[in-house]
Formats: sequence, structure tokens, C-alpha cells
Amino acid sequence: MGLSRIKGQDAALTHLRSAFESKRLAHAYLFHGPEGVGKESAALEFAAALNCDAGGLEGCGTCPSCRMAAKLAHPDIHLVFPMPRDAKPEEVAEVVAEQVKAGYREGDFGRKAAIISVEVVLDAVVAQANQRPYTGPWKVFVVADADAMTPEASNTLLKTLEEPPEATALILTTARPNTLPATVLSRCQRIQFRRLSHETIEEILLSDKRLGFNKARAKAAALVSLGSAGRAVRSEAEGLVSELGRVADLVAGKRAAGVESLVGEASQIAFRLGRHEQERLLDLMLLWYRDVLLLQELGDGAPAEEILFGRQRRQLEAQARAMDTRAIGDLVMKIDDARRAIERYSNPSIIFTSVLVDMAIARKRSEAAGRRPNAA
Ligand SMILES: [Zn+2]
Repeated sequence: MGLSRIKGQDAALTHLRSAFESKRLAHAYLFHGPEGVGKESAALEFAAALNCDAGGLEGCGTCPSCRMAAKLAHPDIHLVFPMPRDAKPEEVAEVVAEQVKAGYREGDFGRKAAIISVEVVLDAVVAQANQRPYTGPWKVFVVADADAMTPEASNTLLKTLEEPPEATALILTTARPNTLPATVLSRCQRIQFRRLSHETIEEILLSDKRLGFNKARAKAAALVSLGSAGRAVRSEAEGLVSELGRVADLVAGKRAAGVESLVGEASQIAFRLGRHEQERLLDLMLLWYRDVLLLQELGDGAPAEEILFGRQRRQLEAQARAMDTRAIGDLVMKIDDARRAIERYSNPSIIFTSVLVDMAIARKRSEAAGRRPNAA
């Protein structure tokens, strides 16, 4: 429990701890950085720790205040997050309950845009901020994904940011700080959160029992996470991790010898995935070929931290040797086109299948043409 539960964000935590110890906490913070790296969890742990009966900034996890905070039911800790405009109170409660249960919040409402409306800011922030804390020393407002505030909402929040009542802290989180109004930004102290290493993500996935990962799955999910624990959790939920393995095998020519069975295998993968997962998988394939190109250019000199699929370095190196740069360039353009087409077409599986087959054929062709003359 407490702030030490937040992994891989030492600089941010050190900043908060030293501000607290020297009694120089700001009234408003902006936690910014990529999606799924712990901004919101850190904000909630910080809010809990400020109100912990044991004092200090670790949060004991067992006092009545900490227990209420863990259930997101603390009367002095208020969480605001984007929801579709027509969401009913029970739907909001459902999202909160899910967050308590799973440890993270899913921000996907299908076609409906999620926003933070002026009504929510008035209700959950302005009205509450004007009252004294009920139990704890601090009243804390966490505005998650603050960039989803409507202009009216941020204008309203601005008044509280400009004249914060005593013993009140506001924490805004965002992955897109530059889309917030300058007036809001200027009132907040910015604290940066960073992408997480594969090791840190594995550690997070394994340490939170609510997520239900075993070692092998955590390893695989970390690989496709792009430094975001949130993304790792979603990839696992979508079955993307095992599909990525199958796509890599297919492209590497480990499965399906003839073109006919290649098409069959590719369309099976396409059939199992929805449009959204197909898009994500193509994103990953673009990053995969980015790694291949990087290894072609830099060879053994390519720094390990630059290689996104570091654990598959051998496979990447084999592809870098076998394929010529122009073929990879063509393929990257095809994947990129397919990525765009999938958004628009009514039957994305056909496009997805065809691009998988393109990848496998490009690989076969370059193998048949022999190794690149300048390959090491
Ligand atoms: Zn406590």
C-alpha cells in the first residue's frame, strides 16, 4: 500500500515526498505522461497517504481512512473522470466499482465520446471544495484525463485552481498536456511520469493479484506493452499477446508452407480478432519492422534500449539479414495503408488477411533471393 506501490516512477515520487516533508506541497499538480504508466494510481495513493491516520506519506493501508480510500469511498477524496454525456449515476458507480475491483479504469465507451462536463466539475469539485474536510486533514480532488474537460468545465475548474481553499489539493492527470488550456497549465505544478521498462511492467502485473497474471503471460504482455502497464493489461484481455506470437510465426515462415494454407491461416487469425484488435496488431507490426530496419542500419551496434521487441532480438536480426531494405519499406507502406483502410471498411478482415499474406510472402521472396550482399 501507499506511494511505494507505484513502480518505475522514482523521480515523480521523490518530488512529491520532498515537497511533503518540507511542507511545500502545491495546491495543484499535473501528473502527465503516457497512458497506463501509473499517473492515476499515484494520484489516488497520494490522496490516501495525505489522509492516512498514521501520518507520513506512505499510507498504512489498514487505518479506517486508508480502507475507505482503497474502496474509493473516502468522503474527502474525490475522483472525476470522463464519461459519455448521457451517462446515468449508476453507470458512473459501475465504473468506480470496476476500478476498485480491477485496479484500473477502462476508458472505452464504444462510439460514445467520454467527456468531463461542467456539471460534473460543479458537483464533484466546486461544491465540495467549499466545505471543510470531513475526516482527514486534506481534501483531495483527482481529475483523471483532465484533457477531456469541455472548455466550460475547465473554465469552471480554473476558479478553484486560482483560489484553492485551505487544505485542498487538486491533482490533474493527462497523457496530452498540450491540449489543456494555458490558463489551467499555468496554475499546476507539472510532474512527469515515464514509460515503464518491461521488467517493471512484469513486476506490476505479477504484484497485483487482482490482475491475475502468471509469469509467462506477464512476460508476453510486457513485450507488447510499449511501456504502458495499462496497455499490457488490455493486450492480455484482448488475447492480443498470443495472436502476436502467431503472426510473428506466420510472417517468419514457421507455419503454412504453401500460399493457399498461408491465406487460410491468416484469415483464421483475422476472424478471431475484432476490428480494434486488428488495428492494434498492425500497430505492433509497424513497430516490429521499425526494429528490423534499425538493426539493419546499426547491426550489433543498435543500443538495447532502442529495440522495442528486445526479447525477440534474434528473430529480428534474422529478418534484418534476410530481407532487403526496399522490401521492408514496401511492406511498411502496405501495413500503414491497411491500418487506415481497416478504420473505414465494413469488412476489415479481408484487408487484414491480405496484409498478413503480404508480410509472409515478402519474407519468402527475400529468402529465395538469398541474403543481402551487404549483410553481416
Ligand atoms: Zn492509513
